[in-house]
This record gives sequence, C-alpha cells and structure tokens, in this order.
Amino acid sequence: MERRIFLSKGMAIGLMPPSFETTQKINNTEEVVVEKYQSGQPHKEKVLAAIQPHSDDVPIFAGGTVAKLIREGYTGYLIRTSNDDHAGRGSTVGEVIYNNEKDTEEVAKALGLSKVYNLGYRNHRMDNISIQELRGRLIFLFRMLKVDTIISYDPWGHYEENPDHYITASAVESARWMAGGGLDYPEHIEAGINPHAVIERYY
Ligand SMILES: [Zn+2]
Repeated sequence: MERRIFLSKGMAIGLMPPSFETTQKINNTEEVVVEKYQSGQPHKEKVLAAIQPHSDDVPIFAGGTVAKLIREGYTGYLIRTSNDDHAGRGSTVGEVIYNNEKDTEEVAKALGLSKVYNLGYRNHRMDNISIQELRGRLIFLFRMLKVDTIISYDPWGHYEENPDHYITASAVESARWMAGGGLDYPEHIEAGINPHAVIERYY
C-alpha cells in the first residue's frame, strides 16, 4: 500500500519553494503532497493535537504546519510527553526543567494553541516507562479533547536515535485508533468521556 494512502492525509512538508508543484514524485517511488494555505477557515470545529516529547520538536519540525492549521480554523493543543530535564538552558537540572516548561508555554502561545498538557516522563529515558500507561493517558486526552487530527513523530521512521521520539510515536499511533474502541478503558465512558478515534495524521 502506498504510504500516502495509508496515512490518509499525507505528510507535512515545510520549507518548500513557492514554485514547488502541489504533487511531485520523489525518485519515482513516493508521492509528496504539499498542502497550501486554505482561506475561509475550512477546519473550523475541528481539533488538532501536536504531540512532542521535547520542547523543541514541534517548533523545529512542524511549527509552520501547526500555525497554518490553526489559522485555517483548528482549535489546537500541545502535548509534551517528557519533562525535558536533560537538554536546554539552565545551570541545574531544576532550572533546565523550569526553562523548558516556560519555553513550551511560549511556543503554544506563538502557534495559537489553547493549552499545554505536560505528561512529565524523564528525558532520554522513555524506553524505560510503561508504554501502556502512556497510551492510556493519550487515549484519555484524545477522547476528552475530541481530537480529529494529530501531528507527531513517524512511528515507522528509520534511524531514529532518540528513545523519547520512538516511544512517543509508537504510543500515539496505537492510542489514536484504540481511543475509538468501546471496550478499551470503559470507565472513561461511565465518566462521560466517549470513544473517539483520531482519523487524520501528520507524521
Ligand atoms: Zn526531541
């Protein structure tokens, strides 16, 4: 199956020159789609979740796409899975965590996102957590926020060296379809949080 079809909404591509055609073949094997700005707020009433392990992931890799989608009408949320305690500014670990937390809030503000959810797993150690727990927390958020569209790392990306990236990506991909099932976490339904699968993905 073609990757483009599998992902249903294609890949997020930034920094393309204005002359780049909407659709081009790269090496004749993989179709690349460039989504241009759409006026008239076509995504009004829809919900976007940008999910990053670290404070700099979305700003570096998908900041333009998130800002574009918000401008096109989405309500958006930022979910940060790590506590960012091992990279960034600060002379102590505590300072680094605090600075990254403030930085993440500013990123959300700049991109037009409504709120940040910090899940707080330790930086560079996410391959040591229970992925089941992370998946359960993401399922709750996807259901509660009624997320239609997600942006995150590619769970099938080759050569990814950061465990926080591939663990988060894997949990996101499994959570987004399980969130639609009525038998996973039935206590959510009793609490008024109904099943809600995420259909659109930018990886
Ligand atoms: Zn990262």
